[in-house]
Amino acid sequence: MPGDSRQVYGWNDVATPDAAAIDAHIKRADFILVRHTHYDHVLDVPHIALKTYATVIGTESTENVARAYNVPEEQLITVRGGEDCEFGVFSIKVIPSLHSALDHKRYFSSEKAREGMKAPLTLLQIHPEGGTLAYLLRFHGSQILVFGGMNYIEREMEGIRPDVVLVGAGSSRREIHDYTGRLELSSVGAADSLGQFPGPLWSDPAACHRSSAILRGGSQSGFAKEQGDCAQVL
Ligand SMILES: [Zn+2]
Repeated sequence: MPGDSRQVYGWNDVATPDAAAIDAHIKRADFILVRHTHYDHVLDVPHIALKTYATVIGTESTENVARAYNVPEEQLITVRGGEDCEFGVFSIKVIPSLHSALDHKRYFSSEKAREGMKAPLTLLQIHPEGGTLAYLLRFHGSQILVFGGMNYIEREMEGIRPDVVLVGAGSSRREIHDYTGRLELSSVGAADSLGQFPGPLWSDPAACHRSSAILRGGSQSGFAKEQGDCAQVL
């Protein structure tokens, strides 16, 4: 774009996180929950893990990226989905999920980031999906559900009654049959605790661009409307 002086990257270029931006915003972290290993999810993870000593929870693919940057093994918890990890004051349920249906449903990848890689890695090396996960965090009597993308496995959502949901709300959700309706019919959407949406977040295009939306308390029609509103700015 005219006037945009940022570097253009190719797949074989080294993937370099914006360390200054990370350091300006992230001072501490105890855990990093990674949903899949595409570069837009994993690029910053090694830097944050090395800086904060946070534990990285993710797939074997994700942990292979962390290993390439010498994140210590004791900071890695490798999961595949289905685990329910107890940490004393909180717990994390790891939920098998599905990647967004990109390329008009043609997106599919069974690749994972390879073992034995050494940093610096290229964008191509940190792009195998490695499987997609969602997470349920239970903390001080509240539950937060974090979607893995613009998709989910309906049966994995049954019985979950979160207080807050970070829903994948990008336009590719339109490739999924009755994305919002099925969510409403599951206990996630039908929970009485789902109510008023925090307007400022939903009306903030930047928030929508992060492909997630926060749902807290309230009406299901509001959920559907806001999903639609969000998709319009994507
Ligand atoms: Zn992805």
